[in-house]
Amino acid sequence: MTFGAAASVPRGRRPAADAACPCGAGRFGECCGPVLAGAMAGTPERLMRSRYTAFALGDVRHLRDTWHPGTRPEDLTLDADTEWVGLEVVAHTEDGDRGMVSFRAHWHERGSGSRGVLEERSRFARRAGAWYYVDAV
Ligand SMILES: [Zn+2]
Repeated sequence: MTFGAAASVPRGRRPAADAACPCGAGRFGECCGPVLAGAMAGTPERLMRSRYTAFALGDVRHLRDTWHPGTRPEDLTLDADTEWVGLEVVAHTEDGDRGMVSFRAHWHERGSGSRGVLEERSRFARRAGAWYYVDAV
């Protein structure tokens, strides 16, 4: 796992296919790019990475589309001041149609310049073959 190496990308823009993926796991065109373009994420970890990348790129549509209908918020807006600057996947498990991913996401706030780390354990569920984000525990 690497983090910090991925360059931050301006909102609303897609990195080039051969650029470092914001999630840090490879080139965008082989990593989160296809998932953001609609390809199915094969594992909870892949989906979690693509959702981190969607946060980093401001892709609200992908976040909404991959949120479990039972827990999806009515309104989803991203904090424009928060820049996501690195991801560490700490652990991930898969058990049938349930999955869990523990991660640390590094953020930077543009206005104040403050930095921090969001630590979370995300739960995922598979419905009709596709993984969805459920909630955080
Ligand atoms: Zn990625």
